[in-house]
Amino acid sequence: MIVKLLLDRKREGQELAPDEIRALVAAYTRGEVPDYQMAAFAMAVCCKGMTDAETLALTTAMRDSGECLSWDDLSVPTADKHSTGGVGDKLSLVIQPLAAACGLGVPSLTGRGLGLTGGTADKMESIPGYVAGLSLADYRKVVAACGCSLTVQTGEIAPADKKLYALRDVTGTVPSIPLIVGSILSKKLAEGAGTLVFDVKCGAGAFMKTRSEAVALATALVAGAKGAGRKSVALVTAMDEPLGFTVGNALEVQEAIDVLKGGGVRLPQDVTDLSVEFAARMVALAKEMPLDEARAQCRARLADGSAWTRFAEMVRLHGGDLAAFAKETDKVPPPAQVTAASDGFVAAIDAQKVAQAAFELGAGRAQAADAIAPAAGVRLLVTRGDKVSAGQPVAELYAPTRPERLAAASRLVQEAVAVSSDAPVAKPLVLEVVE
Ligand code: URA
Repeated sequence: MIVKLLLDRKREGQELAPDEIRALVAAYTRGEVPDYQMAAFAMAVCCKGMTDAETLALTTAMRDSGECLSWDDLSVPTADKHSTGGVGDKLSLVIQPLAAACGLGVPSLTGRGLGLTGGTADKMESIPGYVAGLSLADYRKVVAACGCSLTVQTGEIAPADKKLYALRDVTGTVPSIPLIVGSILSKKLAEGAGTLVFDVKCGAGAFMKTRSEAVALATALVAGAKGAGRKSVALVTAMDEPLGFTVGNALEVQEAIDVLKGGGVRLPQDVTDLSVEFAARMVALAKEMPLDEARAQCRARLADGSAWTRFAEMVRLHGGDLAAFAKETDKVPPPAQVTAASDGFVAAIDAQKVAQAAFELGAGRAQAADAIAPAAGVRLLVTRGDKVSAGQPVAELYAPTRPERLAAASRLVQEAVAVSSDAPVAKPLVLEVVE
């Protein structure tokens, strides 16, 4: 393989053979292709795209760069859900135990967040004692024991993606659908679930800002997953407003617990409805069951507490202490309030601004080594469509370690909550289904 000749052909928009792509990825993973040549390859792909066959070859080559898990020893079908990420997206915390309670094995390798808010692993680690960084052997034991595990992805899974993503991040080559598909799907395929359901978020608070970009990514993810022999569906979902009422690690865990346990507080309808829909899609595909039956089963398992029992068991097996979590939540200093500027209806809540406010308060990290303040974040007290009066509290801000950032965060939340004299028209949560 002469890398320079492959680069010449890719730059001219020619199709590379699957074997050529596989050889390139394998040599890059072994350190035999330098970063500057791989960066040139990534930029050529950004500019010229890839055919479906090239994308599949890239994806499977990255999958095969590390360990590929098999769950044949579990006696149940397996499924996982992947989200492209949104503000207040705590859905995995509800969906994975709910799907497990419906009889699936849900092996879910997840991530830490770099940016405005924490990732699923950061959220789970706000529970005292919870260890997200399990070895693959321990992770397998937890999935076998309770049907699900939220474990941080280890270095053994798709190491080619880890190396290539770090390079893309600093060379302006992240926004390319074939490269994004290769990156997301190589990890999900290596994780080994038989069914893959994708949540492609679309809107101001999402990676994909427009509907056409989101549908293109959803279509490519489903085609890639099916091409690699998995059952798959993607839902394109709205991400203009934050999901639920909370943005911040411990706040989001508490909200997910409220949804799983039910009752007592004003539950976030969007989180409940999307959790049931995603879990039902996983169950319907994995068990080859009609979708309506799967939806009914998921609603029943949420209502009868079985999903909550799975979650509590998963936390215990990861070393987490939910009683200590409840005590810590009680100790958090009283929040600062943001109030409505005028009478009217909440017309919109800008997800991006709320995420920026949560970051100011300490909920995210700018560099991988930065510490997150688990209790930091924003709790909205209203949702789109609510009637409000001037001076009524609309949000609470928690800044346990950065009280000096409260003023900046308050301004952002004040700007984020738009009040108008007319009630807004209801918007769907699921914008498209790609099968
Ligand atoms: N998330 C990933 O894992 N990879 C990408 O390339 C983009 C988003």
